[in-house]
Amino acid sequence: MLENLEKPTTTNIGCKVMKLADQLGEKDGALLLSYVDDDSWIAEHLVRALAERGVKIGPMAIRTHRKRQCACRSLNA
Ligand SMILES: [Zn+2]
Repeated sequence: MLENLEKPTTTNIGCKVMKLADQLGEKDGALLLSYVDDDSWIAEHLVRALAERGVKIGPMAIRTHRKRQCACRSLNA
């Protein structure tokens, strides 16, 4: 049942944070990344604060990005 388990590649994991940053444009995208990279922000709190501004992202996407378990891992681990 578990044979041929495939490791995810960077391309199929993608990165929701980066995708969102891209959609937000240069200024807001950069701000989003700085918030996400700021460890003093608890992921859930950041999610809520962003939602209040109409930006939707899940806490898992933030955690995944922080741990560089997303496509960004190859960029700056
Ligand atoms: Zn990422």
